[in-house]
Amino acid sequence: MPELDLETLQAEMTSWRRHLHAHPEFGFEEVGTAAFVAAKLREFGFDEVAEGVGGTGVVGTLKRGTGNRAIALRADMDALRIAEQGDHPYRSQTPGVMHACGHDGHTAMLLGAAKLLAAEGGFDGTVRFLFQPAEEWGKGALAMLADGLMERFPFDEIHGLHNMPGLAVGQFQTRTGSFMSAEDNFEIVLKGVGGHAARPHSGNEVLVAACALVTSLQTIVSRRLSPADIAVVSVTELLTDGTRNVLPGTARILGDARSFRPEVSAEIERQMGIIAQGTAQSYNLSAELHYTREFVPLVNDETMVQEAFAAARTVFDDGDVSVAREPMTGSEDFARFLDHVPGCFAYVGNGEDSAPLHNPRYDFDDRGLIHGARYHAAIARRRLSPG
Ligand SMILES: [Zn+2]
Ligand SMILES: [Zn+2]
Repeated sequence: MPELDLETLQAEMTSWRRHLHAHPEFGFEEVGTAAFVAAKLREFGFDEVAEGVGGTGVVGTLKRGTGNRAIALRADMDALRIAEQGDHPYRSQTPGVMHACGHDGHTAMLLGAAKLLAAEGGFDGTVRFLFQPAEEWGKGALAMLADGLMERFPFDEIHGLHNMPGLAVGQFQTRTGSFMSAEDNFEIVLKGVGGHAARPHSGNEVLVAACALVTSLQTIVSRRLSPADIAVVSVTELLTDGTRNVLPGTARILGDARSFRPEVSAEIERQMGIIAQGTAQSYNLSAELHYTREFVPLVNDETMVQEAFAAARTVFDDGDVSVAREPMTGSEDFARFLDHVPGCFAYVGNGEDSAPLHNPRYDFDDRGLIHGARYHAAIARRRLSPG
């Protein structure tokens, strides 16, 4: 098989990435992105390209040899509702939407690997290329699974990459076990009787109680969970129906909780209920807690991680492949696939001076594209070794 010229591939991936960056699409609306991906896969001579998997998802399949094992490689395609502040020529052309998490880069990297593996082969079995929608919502992977992903496009293991600001370009990191956190969302509604700001004693307004509740919620992590468990409880919104001279009768406290074990997530919900009810009672109010689980914890399989490190060492310099020291309290929809098959999720560097993820000045560093594409190809070839 002819070998692809990597410099040409790098230039191509850069142009794909910048095209995607200029045309960002929000979760489950990735119509143009999915069409772009599917057209590229067909151009590369893919055996099978399925569109509309779980809404706007795309699954490409490459088969070589007679091996009956299958490996999945996954990228995400969605952008965020953030107004871009960057001023590069390929900046977002859609007001209020931008690729602030680098999913444009992830898609371009996986397309690069698709082109590489379609042209060169070097594996025996099946490689599935999963381009998933709506990662940021934590809903895209479930949508693909509900659409029969595992039955229609079966695979034995899955691998994925995310770019990481703060890590130098050309570096690779992952770790065994807990790698990224669960994300739960909560809303507590306090209800009382509002009234005139000058006559607080005539009703039972909710704002003072809500402020006390926000403070008390901080004791869940500091006083009610084991110090050995990593968790975060963040209140992000406090909304009332009061105005300047009207005491509110309803307050809504919204926020986000992160943890790494289902038992901890359950305990956070339980403690939140106790604190909300106790606080409400002491202020003569009623409280309702709505608690939802958006992302499950991402747990990397030990063997898959060892294989990922071995593949990475064929792509990255030895000193640039390292074990992530601690799990990260960010969440990833990739975890949903790991409920079905073992796998490994890993980080590739986006530069030490990169703006953070989800920041209006963030941009994917194109120099990382070739590393990601080569890593995807390397893990596929290693796991489907022709022997
Ligand atoms: Zn993100
Ligand atoms: Zn992301």
